[in-house]
Amino acid sequence: MLYNDPDPLEVKIVTKRFGLPNSASLDTYLATDGFKAFFKAMEMTPEQIIEEVKLSALRGRGGAGFPAGLKWSFVPRNSPLPKYVIINADESEPGTCKDRLLMENDPHQLLEGILIAGRAIGAHKGYIYIRGEYRYLIEAMDRAISEAYARGYLGKNIQGTGFDFAIYTHSGAGAYECGEETALLDSIEGKRGIPRMKPPFPAVVGAWQAPTLINNVETLSAVPAIIRDGAAAFAALGPPKNGGTRMICLSGHINKPGVYELPVGFNLLRMIYEVGGGMRNGKKLKAVVPGGSSCPLLKAEECDIPMDFDTLAKVKSMLGSGGTVVLDEDTCMVRFALRIMKFYAHESCGWCIPCREGTTWLKKMLQRFHDGGGQKSDIPLIGELSKNMLGRTFCALGDAAAMPTISIVEKFPEDFEAHLNGRPCPYAHAAEPVFA
Ligand code: SF4
Repeated sequence: MLYNDPDPLEVKIVTKRFGLPNSASLDTYLATDGFKAFFKAMEMTPEQIIEEVKLSALRGRGGAGFPAGLKWSFVPRNSPLPKYVIINADESEPGTCKDRLLMENDPHQLLEGILIAGRAIGAHKGYIYIRGEYRYLIEAMDRAISEAYARGYLGKNIQGTGFDFAIYTHSGAGAYECGEETALLDSIEGKRGIPRMKPPFPAVVGAWQAPTLINNVETLSAVPAIIRDGAAAFAALGPPKNGGTRMICLSGHINKPGVYELPVGFNLLRMIYEVGGGMRNGKKLKAVVPGGSSCPLLKAEECDIPMDFDTLAKVKSMLGSGGTVVLDEDTCMVRFALRIMKFYAHESCGWCIPCREGTTWLKKMLQRFHDGGGQKSDIPLIGELSKNMLGRTFCALGDAAAMPTISIVEKFPEDFEAHLNGRPCPYAHAAEPVFA
């Protein structure tokens, strides 16, 4: 999936340089408003910057959707310890592939966002934690960082402003769990990446026990536009409390899969039929994973909704990380649940029993069910086992495994019943499954 087919319905804020010649170079960046926001931020007080980010209604693009300005305000200004900005580029949620495009196509936008965040919280060091599988991106970011140092946009006394800032890349080692911010902190400190007890939250006790701001790549990439063009313009793009745009990774059984930048609150059906070119082979829509594999699924009749954080929460799902996966009528939902559970069972760090045992047993039950060995009583049992994991695990991975499974059992019981009595999968004829 590539960002190679821009759509007229897109609103380009963070992707506005995509497709320009040498879009990743500092020259291209400077020729297209690059670092204007940084100079403007240097004229503002830290409090003014944070207030502007609050007014923009920017919410975290990594999954949780927490208001970014509020998160920035939690970093204590009077701490005697050094402060850090850590960029979560451990993009691992199945269905999500947008941060890699931002780092590949416009790395200086991210660097500028980091500098502004550093200025706002009083930090002078930043670490970009990049998913291990994105090795080529570590080289791409290192190239951009070297270019910025060479031209005085990083390092000591940046562009004569008196502000110092250093940025380093740090490679993950392929663990989904390290996208959880406290596991990421342990990993960056050179330890095994398992989550920490919260509170204290990283804003107060983070990397090396010091106050630390952790933001996703897309979140920080939006910051230069907010500071440069004003919070009001950004906020106005979306519904109240949901400012700006989202990079939506549209995949599955549609004609035009791709990553599209759309205003927050864009209607999901329009996304599928107008932006995504409609269902592949004229098939009917069956279900949608709205924001990555951990989100509860929506049935076709639930999809005429605006894609914003609050509306998705009202229908008991999530906007998540923007990985929108579209499933057609030939999708076996048992196989889909099994595919998701295999992923989470594999990625569970094993620290707590409900997640370690729950994902393993659910995987076994779903496999048996799909192979025709399921019993009717297994159907509610799969739902109950998932519900028993909810809220009972140390980090959100347990919930991430449970939530889509619960929604699939509750919304598609007929798919489970169709496998009973040793019957083979009724969708065995279908095209390749997603996440396969
Ligand atoms: Fe590890 Fe899963 Fe527990 Fe998270 S929920 S700490 S991934 S075992």
